[in-house]
Amino acid sequence: MGEFDLIARYFTRPATRAALGVGDDCALLRPTPGTQLAVSSDMLVEGRHFFTDVDPAALGHKALAVNLSDLAACGATPVAFTLALALPRANEAWLAPFSRGLLALADAHGCELVGGDTTQGPLNICITVFGEVPVVNGKSQALLRSGARAGDDIYVSGTLGDARLALDALRGVLALPADVLAQARQRLERPTPRVALGQALRGVATAALDLSDGLTGDLHHILKASGVGATLDTSVAIGLIAASAHPACATGLFSLEQRLQCVLSGGDDYELAFTAPASARAAVQAAARQADTPVTRIGRIDAEPGLRLIDADGQSLGGQFASFDHFSASAAATAP
Ligand code: ADP
Ligand code: MG
Repeated sequence: MGEFDLIARYFTRPATRAALGVGDDCALLRPTPGTQLAVSSDMLVEGRHFFTDVDPAALGHKALAVNLSDLAACGATPVAFTLALALPRANEAWLAPFSRGLLALADAHGCELVGGDTTQGPLNICITVFGEVPVVNGKSQALLRSGARAGDDIYVSGTLGDARLALDALRGVLALPADVLAQARQRLERPTPRVALGQALRGVATAALDLSDGLTGDLHHILKASGVGATLDTSVAIGLIAASAHPACATGLFSLEQRLQCVLSGGDDYELAFTAPASARAAVQAAARQADTPVTRIGRIDAEPGLRLIDADGQSLGGQFASFDHFSASAAATAP
């Protein structure tokens, strides 16, 4: 199968929203008047971001999900995306499920595949997404990292840490019962981008970002951009790992410390972390209901710089819960 047959068979569908989709030198989008264009790219590299033998349908889903998650963090509405794909060979047994997983998530969010590039090479998937954010009275409604203020509450959506748990189990670092692994693996391989929540938080959240590298490390981006510090209640945060609910945890399935490590610095969660003033608590819960996505208040923003971790008694927690940094000294040895 040649390059153009491959594109025609797996990546070409009639454009509905775009003025022109796959097939010409450029795609043509119709910008909605009164909006700004939100643009983001994310690349997935074999051996670095996913295991070679991962289910191709899950990989197609995840490749788009991590990009939609960036739009969600900005409060943007997905519109379209492009796909740059390097493939070792045109393997239809891989391409068919990959494109199915990818396009199913695209359809679920009304986000059209409008173009891309296809080349032979080591497996590498790079997606660029385009979304829209309304401009109201000349002011962009995009959620940024820079808007957190002292006194704001800190929230996260959904659950945290289960993706890391699955990763550790798949790497052989720890053993999990089959049902716990199956559930955690879904979180690692098929993350849910919180697109509806991001949109519902426009005009409510003061700052937001999506959690890809781990809660504490990602939260630092908000603190730095906003020029503030934060205190996180780890007794609340620890409850965010879904696997904690498993009965085996009570019998020492994995330690409190291991769970906290997964929640605070696990990575691959693709949940939203955001801040909002205490006066907006009802509005935050209304947004969560509207988006049908649970949110949990896990801390507050302080004027004093730095990130403090406290336990249920307000005592400060020692120890380092560093998040994942692709270029840190230890990352090369431990990255997936
Ligand atoms: P060009 O000649 O500009 O390099 P190509 O020949 O690479 O264009 O691609 C032909 C058409 O197919 C273009 O519209 C391009 O956007 C689209 N395309 C190429 N690869 C993909 C892909 N993986 N997914 C979707 N569209 C693609
Ligand atoms: Mg090309």
